[in-house]
Amino acid sequence: MDEKIHEECGVFGVWAPGRDVARLTYFALRALQHRGQESAGIAVGNGSTVLVRKDLGLVTQVFTDSDLSAMPGKVACGHCRYGTAGAKGWESAQPHLSVVDDVVLALAHNGTLVNFEALRRELIEMGIPFRSNTDSEVAAKLIGYFTQRAGRLRSGIAHTMRMLEGGYAMVLVRENALYAFRDPHGIRPLVLGRLGDDGWVVASETCALDIVGATLVREIEPGEIVRVSDDGIRSERGRVPGARANCIFEHVYFSRPDSVVRGSSFYLMRHNMGRRLARETPVDADLVISVPDSGTPAAEGFAQELGIPFGTGLIKNRYVARTFIQPTQELRQMGVRLKLNALPDVVRGKRLVMVDDSIVRGTTSRQIVRMLKAAGATEVHVRSASPMVAWPCFYGIDTGSQDQLIAAQMSLDEIRAHIEADSVGFLSVEGLLACVPEDGYCTACFTGDYPVEIPRSWWEERFLPGREPNNLEAASEASRTPLAEVPVE
Ligand code: SF4
Repeated sequence: MDEKIHEECGVFGVWAPGRDVARLTYFALRALQHRGQESAGIAVGNGSTVLVRKDLGLVTQVFTDSDLSAMPGKVACGHCRYGTAGAKGWESAQPHLSVVDDVVLALAHNGTLVNFEALRRELIEMGIPFRSNTDSEVAAKLIGYFTQRAGRLRSGIAHTMRMLEGGYAMVLVRENALYAFRDPHGIRPLVLGRLGDDGWVVASETCALDIVGATLVREIEPGEIVRVSDDGIRSERGRVPGARANCIFEHVYFSRPDSVVRGSSFYLMRHNMGRRLARETPVDADLVISVPDSGTPAAEGFAQELGIPFGTGLIKNRYVARTFIQPTQELRQMGVRLKLNALPDVVRGKRLVMVDDSIVRGTTSRQIVRMLKAAGATEVHVRSASPMVAWPCFYGIDTGSQDQLIAAQMSLDEIRAHIEADSVGFLSVEGLLACVPEDGYCTACFTGDYPVEIPRSWWEERFLPGREPNNLEAASEASRTPLAEVPVE
């Protein structure tokens, strides 16, 4: 099991007549590669149909120059995916293609739909076939179902949004139009950008806008549907927005540090988290180091706040995506060393503070502490720039169940002993909220307060005995209505 929790996807869409939309999408996906490394795909609308190319692998492995040259058009969407258990095959790669009355649609989805199993069952009972077991295909099929009934794609999307519960940001293309829509709480991110005089882009993060030369206009609002076509750009409400609940882990770890939200870069927010962490959990030490690269902005802030030098104590191998699960301790240690190695010349004889962006499963923290001590560090004080992750996420992140989370099972002192650190400290939830702009965040993985109802059928297998989620909002009446009984305007 990897130490980090992972964002499951990055999405991108572009409307740009006269431009090479496939290549623009390719470069945007390269900027979003950190959000998913297991599959990648691009779909292009060429005026008469939609062409798609997708496969398992990194963006650079999936597309050749000739692939991109073979996909001319004026509208495109793209997707990169971090697969979860049971959904790693080619069929799970996106964009998903579906056909509604001879119109080909391609859907790219970031997020998780908590009620997709029930919807999938209903659709199967109605004779609608499935090729994968992903929630994204459920969304695609539902859009097709309602579009057929309503006679208009925009109406099909709006009806689908009323049935879906969970966190999602979706981009859809047909032969001559681009659609982007977001869950009513705004859990998963989606931004709108301008490209030249007549082009528009949507993306999970602003770093994808930067790479294609687009400028940020605004976020896609929770519950909003944006449509771009030859008629221009239009916005409408697909579903009444609920209480805002942006995923705060985007700020802690998922988003690239150079991406921006509500006027502030993630780098700056993480730097401030490190400063706040230093005030909350100070320590007397000789050197602050980070677990690279994601812990570095917070480590810099921590060092600055306490006036302790910041240095490079760990070197990262940038070409290893994951720590392998190995059956023996010796091989597990080797797995960590594939990713990180200590610099004895820097750490020898020093009392270290090691700052990481988060400690989720605790699987590698102990091995890094051991590595630093073996390299000559006299003390290792571990600090996490995120609060204790004690609750699983069901809105697009891969923490499947509570028993995988170290903070759900151990006290602070037990964690310290487990990872063999001299001390351990976590940022408080209040401290984290003080470092991000405005309010309206999901903090469920720290607090157990879930903005969207977690189905009771999941409680037993996903939560530890005696631990129950605090569902802040019940699933809507509309989403409980049998599909065939949903009135369609
Ligand atoms: S539970 Fe945590 S990771 Fe999941 S959406 Fe909420 S803040 Fe993000």
